[in-house]
Amino acid sequence: MNIDFLPTAQPMARLIQELHKLPGIGPKSAQRLAYFLLRSSEEEARALAEAIVAVKERIIFCSICQNITETNPCPICQDKERDHTKICVVEEPLDILALERTRGYHGLYHVLHGVISPMNGIGPDELRVKELLARLQGGATQEIILATNPNLEGEATAMYLHRLITPLGIKVTRLARGLPFGSDLEYADEITLIRALEGRHEI
Ligand SMILES: [Zn+2]
Repeated sequence: MNIDFLPTAQPMARLIQELHKLPGIGPKSAQRLAYFLLRSSEEEARALAEAIVAVKERIIFCSICQNITETNPCPICQDKERDHTKICVVEEPLDILALERTRGYHGLYHVLHGVISPMNGIGPDELRVKELLARLQGGATQEIILATNPNLEGEATAMYLHRLITPLGIKVTRLARGLPFGSDLEYADEITLIRALEGRHEI
């Protein structure tokens, strides 16, 4: 939507335009947020701006698991106490936070950064699948847990990875069906998630 017509000072129009680019932020929300920021103190506004810049300047991707991190490898990949024979494959970094909150999983992770979605022109090459296969060459991995979301694209991605990994002689499991179909791992409560983990089955 073109919001150039807004009768407002140019810096406000610019802020509204930028906020409107964020996911889930429509023109009305963008205006509300912009006026909220206008009313907040200069200190608060600066803290927000600096937090955004710091994310871009300091956050990198772990060269092993592809999670977002400040150090490479990330703390999870470096942690010798964790079970390095298991890799849980997730769509997004936020899914790792959800699984870590359960405290029921102590293996490693791999972030795909998306799912296979022919409708959106996203194939396996657009995801961090090559990086996952490279990790499996080391021979330390005994189980791959496919924890993509329980929706059509998540299932299709899990099936694709299953076909790719099973011939390597590695056990491939999928989270149990406790998660409602069409739901998002990120928003699952801890009990549901831990049951889904414990009840995972070989596919
Ligand atoms: Zn890592």
